[in-house]
Amino acid sequence: MSTPHSHLNRLLSANAQWANDVRQSEPTFFKDSAKGQAPHTLWIGCADSRVPESVITGSRPGDLFVHRNIANQFHPEDDSVLAVLKYAVDHLGVEHVVIVGHTFCGGAAACLAAAQSGNTTVTLEHLPPTDPLNRWLAPLTQLTSTLGVTSASNDEALALVVDENVKMQVDRLSKTPTITNAWVNKNSKGKDVFIHGWVYDLASGKIRDLEVTRGPGQ
Ligand SMILES: [Zn+2]
Repeated sequence: MSTPHSHLNRLLSANAQWANDVRQSEPTFFKDSAKGQAPHTLWIGCADSRVPESVITGSRPGDLFVHRNIANQFHPEDDSVLAVLKYAVDHLGVEHVVIVGHTFCGGAAACLAAAQSGNTTVTLEHLPPTDPLNRWLAPLTQLTSTLGVTSASNDEALALVVDENVKMQVDRLSKTPTITNAWVNKNSKGKDVFIHGWVYDLASGKIRDLEVTRGPGQ
């Protein structure tokens, strides 16, 4: 029988086991980790529980700097993502920023449903327009309404929305002062910075590169 806290107890005992295993195979790992971080990549992805960036890329603690939110948005007025980007490029010296969408994204599906219903002013009609989810998804619903997806089959349309969403966020990212500055002056380690768009396929576990990479002079 599961107790009210059984999920959390399992997390804590799995963590203790993991820490023991790492310490046994690499005795200095945590001591080194505590000294500082030098991640090579900033991952901006969806908050979806099925897309845990470190697990699906075989990454270790210290490899990825991470920002995740609903439907992997890069809102130019969002101080949270702007601060993460600034810190990643100008202090940690990441060389890559990847926007990562994923198939069957619930956020993208909500925007598609709104666009197909013809009501693009409110994405989730059961919630007030001022609800955080509606405010958050409004730009993606607007984009979706321009894609001509009203008559397409749902799976095909959703796949298109997911791809175009990533491309829009890469475009927004490319216009930020942090990135335009890095393309002229390089990152804090004197290295070039590149931005990329990827889509993770839930059904296969594979990442697809949308080949929208941009860097200095590109
Ligand atoms: Zn998602």
